[in-house]
Amino acid sequence: MFLPNLIQRKRDGEALSPEEWSALIADFTAGGVPDYQMAALVMASFIRGLNHSELSALTEAMIASGEQLEFPGGVKAVDKHSTGGVGDKVSLILAPLVAACGVPVPMMSGRGLGHTTGTLDKLEAIPGFNTQIPLEKAAAQVARIGCALIGQTDQIAPADKKLYAMRDAIAAVESIPLIAASIMSKKLCEGLSGLVLDVKHGSGAFLPDDDKALELANTMMGLGEARGCKTVALLTAMDRPLGKACGNALETVEAIEALKGDGRKDLMEVTFALGAEMLVLGGKAETIVEARQILNDVMDSGAALAKFTEIVEAQGGDVSVIANPGLLPKAPVIGTFLAPRDGFVRAIEPRAIGHAIISLGGGRSNVDDELDPSVGFVIDAELGDEVMQGDELATVYANSEDAAARAIKTLTDSFDIGNSTPVVAPLVSHRVSSEGVERF
Ligand code: URA
Repeated sequence: MFLPNLIQRKRDGEALSPEEWSALIADFTAGGVPDYQMAALVMASFIRGLNHSELSALTEAMIASGEQLEFPGGVKAVDKHSTGGVGDKVSLILAPLVAACGVPVPMMSGRGLGHTTGTLDKLEAIPGFNTQIPLEKAAAQVARIGCALIGQTDQIAPADKKLYAMRDAIAAVESIPLIAASIMSKKLCEGLSGLVLDVKHGSGAFLPDDDKALELANTMMGLGEARGCKTVALLTAMDRPLGKACGNALETVEAIEALKGDGRKDLMEVTFALGAEMLVLGGKAETIVEARQILNDVMDSGAALAKFTEIVEAQGGDVSVIANPGLLPKAPVIGTFLAPRDGFVRAIEPRAIGHAIISLGGGRSNVDDELDPSVGFVIDAELGDEVMQGDELATVYANSEDAAARAIKTLTDSFDIGNSTPVVAPLVSHRVSSEGVERF
């Protein structure tokens, strides 16, 4: 392949053919394309965009760069993907809950990067929990117990793994076609019949703007449907943290409490909205109303918690943390954030809290950074709460008094307490499917 010609054409706004994308990605995966040429082509694609046929060809080529899970005919495996947020521990509750309802969930998740935390890091807060299991083993686990919670290994869309790291290094992440191809190439390797996307919008989201989030949802839905995977996207609010815990082990504790039936309303609303879509796509319910009833019954019966225990055991984790979440890693210094005045909680800015988790040592600035699972925040106050000066609104978990003081300062800056109640945006605002966009 003569790369300068491809780069020049893309730079000048021409579309590359599906055959060119396919050969390019195969060569790049095999190490036959120098990084400087690929980076130039990626930046040209970032600036010029990709048309529909380029987007499908890039996605197909990234899927073909690795292996794919296959389930026997008739098995309707369904997964969920979230574009990431602060306090978003939904996957830890949703995967066992949906699996306990009888829908197989081969869930492939990511690590936290930037201001968002990741499912793999939360699971790895459980001593011994292994997320790096090969595809064959994951498929066998899904067949045996209905769910596996795994990370992207070199077997899965290796072209995306290389390309994503490159995009991160050259400031070419925030492109809707490149994000859609990246996310969907990984998800479509899972042999899914259905996929539910949780596309976050609001100040703490990867793409804060509502229109952009909607465009991403539509683009990913189109890629899934074109490959025969029924795909539904819900747009959910990330203008505030989801649930109360923000930080890996703290979020795992909150997820375990939720599986025991003690989840906060906002967290359960998002979990049930996504779960109901998964049950319909998995053929376990005809309607969303019926699906919600099944989810409620299964949650109340304790079967979702039992399924989580099975998964933890199957993946080498210490199941005693489920009965006793106090055994999870705990930071030594605890600080309290008190309401600075009387009033109503008008805003809790999630992005600053996400960045503060990194400063506490609980997040990553680079993909290879080690993190400390024990640090973070538990924010008991919610939007709209009326508070009195001196009320305890949040707790900080840190490794030193200095770090705790800095984290408390972040909370002071992140909370807006004013004289009137705020207008709170709906947690689930849009549903995007092949039938169109529904607004709630
Ligand atoms: N997550 C991904 O997997 N890929 C992107 O490009 C952005 C977020």
